[in-house]
Amino acid sequence: MINQSSGKSSVLESIVGRDFLPRGSGIVTRRPLVLQLHKTDGGAEYAEFLHAPKKKFPEFAAVRQEIADETDRITGKTKQISNVPIHLSIFSPNVVDLTLIDLPGLTKVAVEGQPESIVEDIEMMVRSYVEKPNCIILAISPANQDIATSDAIKLSREVDPSGERTFGVITKLDLMDKGTNALDVLEGRAYKLQHPWVGIVNRSQADINKNVDMMAARRKEVEYFESSPEYGHLAHKMGAEYLAKLLSKHLETVIRQRIPSIIALINKTIDELNAELDRIGRPVGEDGGAQLYTILEMCRAFDRIFREHLEGGRPGGDRIYGVFDHQLPAALKKLPFDRHLSTSNVKKVISEADGYQPHLIAPEQGYRRLIDGSLGFFKGPAEASVDAVHSILKELVRKSLAETQELKRFPSLQSDIAAAANEALDRFRDESRKTVSRLVEMESSYLTVEFFRKLQTEPEKLPAKESKESQAQAQAASNVDRYSDNHLRRIGKYQITRLFNSVDKLFSNTIPKAVVFCQVREAKRSLLNHFYSQIGRREKEQLGKMLDEDPALMGKRETIAKRLELYKSARDEIDAVAWK
Ligand code: GDP
Ligand code: MG
Repeated sequence: MINQSSGKSSVLESIVGRDFLPRGSGIVTRRPLVLQLHKTDGGAEYAEFLHAPKKKFPEFAAVRQEIADETDRITGKTKQISNVPIHLSIFSPNVVDLTLIDLPGLTKVAVEGQPESIVEDIEMMVRSYVEKPNCIILAISPANQDIATSDAIKLSREVDPSGERTFGVITKLDLMDKGTNALDVLEGRAYKLQHPWVGIVNRSQADINKNVDMMAARRKEVEYFESSPEYGHLAHKMGAEYLAKLLSKHLETVIRQRIPSIIALINKTIDELNAELDRIGRPVGEDGGAQLYTILEMCRAFDRIFREHLEGGRPGGDRIYGVFDHQLPAALKKLPFDRHLSTSNVKKVISEADGYQPHLIAPEQGYRRLIDGSLGFFKGPAEASVDAVHSILKELVRKSLAETQELKRFPSLQSDIAAAANEALDRFRDESRKTVSRLVEMESSYLTVEFFRKLQTEPEKLPAKESKESQAQAQAASNVDRYSDNHLRRIGKYQITRLFNSVDKLFSNTIPKAVVFCQVREAKRSLLNHFYSQIGRREKEQLGKMLDEDPALMGKRETIAKRLELYKSARDEIDAVAWK
């Protein structure tokens, strides 16, 4: 910046060392020019515009024309200005990586063809750039104007009161009236800034018209200062080349100062990216070993959650206890023994068992048949318990899978584990069914001698509420008629029912034990054992398929990983520079 026609564009060109900006009298720069310098490893210099990305400009004269044309494209061939920047990149081995911004100069009055608001418009635009605390301000004022009234200095003082990022530049020293000089300013007496003032002699309009090139202009400038009676003693601190060096030194200092905070910021970003990667899951290694490891990790994570559901910590396992505590006893209570042990059925079974020869003391065969027939009833509740626990376990598998965050990224593996777990539960259920039905069969296969002994003493043990009379009757009847109703009722209602009551108690203990042993304990111990032995034998390719991921997630991870790499290498580079 800043004052119009003060030589801003000319200074910028000198710093870059190339002719490429439109310069001249009046308001030439009418749009901000954001100039990015990219240092290349060699090769020819060229320029590129953001608005024409495919086009390379090897000729800098063409660059100047394009800037002028592009300015007109937005503003028309008027004297209007626009705050829409033109982005120009210069690729050259002779530049440093740096972004420079050339702005329209501040004016005091609108000239013909300009809107009244132009004075404020320009000021606002310039302000929006120089306000940024990271920006270095080149406050350029021509020597043939009063520095005290320089708008450039006024504005920079406003946005940078301490002056630590303002560089005062005086141009057009060659155009000063004879007998006057700018020593008061250049030596910091007239207006003190933190950084030393730099005097510049750019090419005059006549030089431009004569196409004096940059190198010749620089030589001329050096000559001017060295031979100047007024500025000779300052010659080594004047000129565009010195200004460029001063700026790059300053940049270096600023960057060095900022390194700790930049490193801190980079480290923070690295931490954030790492956390994000952890959240969506790290990439899986390419080799089979790493894949197998990942699969086993996932299985273990799932298994851990599943066990928490069973053992407590997560809900669900208590429902298994509910089966044993409510469902099984209720079902046992509902068994239709009344019908089976009704007098008429008892009579039927006993007489069929006795055949043509009625029993004498106890209907042994009849007992066996009655007991055999009724014990079968217990199979129902027993198997119902097996199935109820089975479906609870299945539900817990489903829940655990859904709660295993790590598995979310591998839908194939998730369904593989689900299949393996369910298959294992099916096996456990089959085993459990066999076991409980064997328990029931065991009970009916052998009636102990003890049982028959007890039967003999049964009549005396009739409940007290049965009247003496009916006891006596029963006693008599047992001697007289083996098939009297009383006799049969005693067999059905008291003897066998008593047996069943004790069997009932036994089963409500042993069935849960069998179910826990066969299903719950196995699920806890070896739910995925079979799966483990299977995948252990699988080829790398099959393992890879199990680890199929959602493509969107993979893309996201790749992006984050790339950014992470970038930040890490940035940190390394900065570290290397900082310790130089
Ligand atoms: P801007 O409007 O601030 O960008 O200024 P320019 O760089 O376009 O320059 C305006 C005019 O002043 C051009 O004709 C330049 O040749 C001329 N000019 C700039 N600096 C100097 C200088 O130091 N000495 C002389 N003699 N002319 C200069
Ligand atoms: Mg300009």
